[in-house]
Amino acid sequence: NPCLLEGWQMTEVRICHLYPNHMNIYGDRGNISVLTKRLQWRGYSSSVTNVGIGDKFSPDDFDLCYLGGGQDKDQNLIAFDLAEKAPAIRSAADDGVSFLWVCGGIQLAGKRYVDASGSELLGVGILDLETIAGTERLIGDIAIRSSVDGREFTVVGYENHIGQTYLGSDSRPLGKVLHGYGNNSFDQVEGAVQQRVIGTYLHGPLLPKNPDLADLILTWALEHRISESVSLEKLDDNFAVNAHKRAVSRAGLKR
Ligand code: GLN
Repeated sequence: NPCLLEGWQMTEVRICHLYPNHMNIYGDRGNISVLTKRLQWRGYSSSVTNVGIGDKFSPDDFDLCYLGGGQDKDQNLIAFDLAEKAPAIRSAADDGVSFLWVCGGIQLAGKRYVDASGSELLGVGILDLETIAGTERLIGDIAIRSSVDGREFTVVGYENHIGQTYLGSDSRPLGKVLHGYGNNSFDQVEGAVQQRVIGTYLHGPLLPKNPDLADLILTWALEHRISESVSLEKLDDNFAVNAHKRAVSRAGLKR
């Protein structure tokens, strides 16, 4: 890969993987492999630190924080520990760390999640939103059109959630629903973006089929690490783009 011939960059991108043993449904941990490989293919190094229940989260230690999805019972298992980590997580978001929190993650990134049993879980408050369990599970293929930081791209995935998420004024949608339900099947938007925090319901795992989104998240992480603007070299994303196109057409959308 020509990027490797230019010599290795000394920059190491430090990734935090939160609750990997509790919050990893639909193979969401596959997102970590995409993030580390897309850095490596461009000559960057990276480290992945698992931070679970009882582990310390130090905001200065990371450039990217990832949390996968989980069933209500998994979210309840980590909620108390997450509340203890919340002030440090908020200061990381305020410092411009890049976040990707998926499904159960977007719900816990908000103010609160009232789960299907009616118990209210406190969120960390890095996204201005709240989530209330509905009566029907929102399940199926989903495609959205995103416009973030001047970048326009489509994102494809799979959703399965009982939670209905409503955005407040401080966060904006990750995208407009082209196919599927999205945050709550009423307002036709999906996900949330605030500072460099992205929350989304899209599983798959998400990133293998969505290189544009992966590179946005990595650009933010690198900009946090080196404190200057970054434009990543293009990669040969043939496989990813073809997989993306197939998912788009499977969602009944034109290519
Ligand atoms: N337990 C949450 C819900 O059902 C999130 C599910 C998930 O992470 N897929 O809405």
